[in-house]
Amino acid sequence: MSESDPEEPVLVVTDLRREYADKVAVAGLSFDVKPGEILGLVGPNGAGKTTTLRSIAGILPVQQGSISVAGFSVTEDGHRARYHLAWIPDDPKPFDSLTVWEHLDLVAGLFDVPEWKSRATELLDFFSLGDKRDALGGELSRGMCQKLALAMAWLPRPKLVLMDEPLSGLDPRGIRTARRAIQEIAASGTAVILSSHLLELVQQLADRLLIIDEGRKAFEGTLEEAHAGFQIPENSSLEDVFFAVTEKPKGAEPEA
Ligand code: ATP
Repeated sequence: MSESDPEEPVLVVTDLRREYADKVAVAGLSFDVKPGEILGLVGPNGAGKTTTLRSIAGILPVQQGSISVAGFSVTEDGHRARYHLAWIPDDPKPFDSLTVWEHLDLVAGLFDVPEWKSRATELLDFFSLGDKRDALGGELSRGMCQKLALAMAWLPRPKLVLMDEPLSGLDPRGIRTARRAIQEIAASGTAVILSSHLLELVQQLADRLLIIDEGRKAFEGTLEEAHAGFQIPENSSLEDVFFAVTEKPKGAEPEA
């Protein structure tokens, strides 16, 4: 893949299907994300969002369909695909007995980050963790764990960041910082998937939306396209769109 082609998707998901025992969690999902784009992934509880993100991250084996990250197949070339992405779960768990700094050192080593110490220091300051540099993972509050996960994800400048409810434990200052961090990393060319039930946040940050319901794509496009497609007033919020999309009679499609 060309490093600089802004139109070449970083992530391509094609016909992804995932079952757990007899439950179909994801039922044939296709979408892509381009460099610098923030895709808002939303859907009701149990819609298949986490399953989709975990499949992309290589945590769940792909049963059917295909996923490529930065041109590398997650199934055939998983190591190289994972090299280009960072995954931030909703409840990140640092190592209890490593310090904050040692976590960053570990990531820097794994991803060969040049001049990592100055960047790590900047990131700790940015996320208000400068005074926690020598604190152990096991001593951190939930919000601090989340900020550390963001700093670890940002350090190697990945091509794709996957975020599952990344702000749920943060205080108001932490939320503001994380919002800025997401905008800045996208502006630097990283593709971001932001999955959250905080629809106002998604509306503020996302360039494009992917709404899924019962494992299927219910809508993909911009908020404006949703207004037109579902015939709801212009200026309606993402929350209005969410209900229009997920409460429509099953099988109803938006107008072209
Ligand atoms: P939420 O918004 O509640 O986090 P989600 O959209 O992330 O939901 P998933 O966690 O992907 O949804 O779950 C999709 C479906 O798959 C649900 O019906 C869920 O019960 C089921 N599921 C998820 N993980 C497992 C598992 N490990 N074993 C069995 N079923 C699972």
